[in-house]
Amino acid sequence: MVMGRAPESEVLALGAVGAFLVLANAVGDLALGLVYAPLSAGADPVISGVFGVILAIIMMACVGMYGAQDDPDEQKGWGTALAIFAAFSLWTGGGFLAGFVLAFTGGILAVILVHVHEAPLVDHRTGPSSSKPPPSGGGPAPPPTGWACPKCGWKNPADTPLCEQCRTSRDWWSGTGR
Ligand SMILES: [Zn+2]
Repeated sequence: MVMGRAPESEVLALGAVGAFLVLANAVGDLALGLVYAPLSAGADPVISGVFGVILAIIMMACVGMYGAQDDPDEQKGWGTALAIFAAFSLWTGGGFLAGFVLAFTGGILAVILVHVHEAPLVDHRTGPSSSKPPPSGGGPAPPPTGWACPKCGWKNPADTPLCEQCRTSRDWWSGTGR
């Protein structure tokens, strides 16, 4: 592949904090579920708590794998995985929602930053659809487009200062005002 590059610290921070919040949320659910399970009909907090802990561990693994990669494609993959698992964590409370937001943002950021850093290699500012034609022939001067005589309307080549038909100056119309 192309040149490797260092993982982004913002992604690592967002992902780590997000995963930690998901873990905290899940552990809280789990503790709550274990304490109140005998009183409540269902065991939902326990299930969602266990699920959340597993998700948090997977998210941390994604962050860790992202941090270990210098291949942009691998970084994109782990960033995407982090965002997906962060979305799953919503079912377990999403780390008080903030954990989901942070980790999801981190995962998306990982993908975006890879593209941003790859972009300068590709010409993203002046595409083929640009109005300015690409210089052909290597000359610095723009290709001759010709000019229409302001007096008689004759179509003249660009490099002729006077009209080929009536010898009127190219800027005759602007010169008459003075
Ligand atoms: Zn003319």
